[in-house]
Amino acid sequence: MSKMDNLRAMREAKYAAAQKRAADAPARPQAPVAPVAPPAPKRVEERAADAAGDLCGHRNMSGRTCTRERGHAAKSHRYS
Ligand SMILES: [Zn+2]
Repeated sequence: MSKMDNLRAMREAKYAAAQKRAADAPARPQAPVAPVAPPAPKRVEERAADAAGDLCGHRNMSGRTCTRERGHAAKSHRYS
């Protein structure tokens, strides 16, 4: 087998493999399921409350988190 025949055989083998892969590839669904709309993004305050569990979770300007209970009656937040 000459070098050229060798090269051609390799090319044909690659081509056949590519054809097979294309044939085996699963067809894309015609009607993809519409993605479920993500829930409306929560407000920052709610996200912070989630992260803080039972705490108020309010953050002050320096990034500290209020340590009072969630929904505390006190008007001020406590960051100690
Ligand atoms: Zn608070």
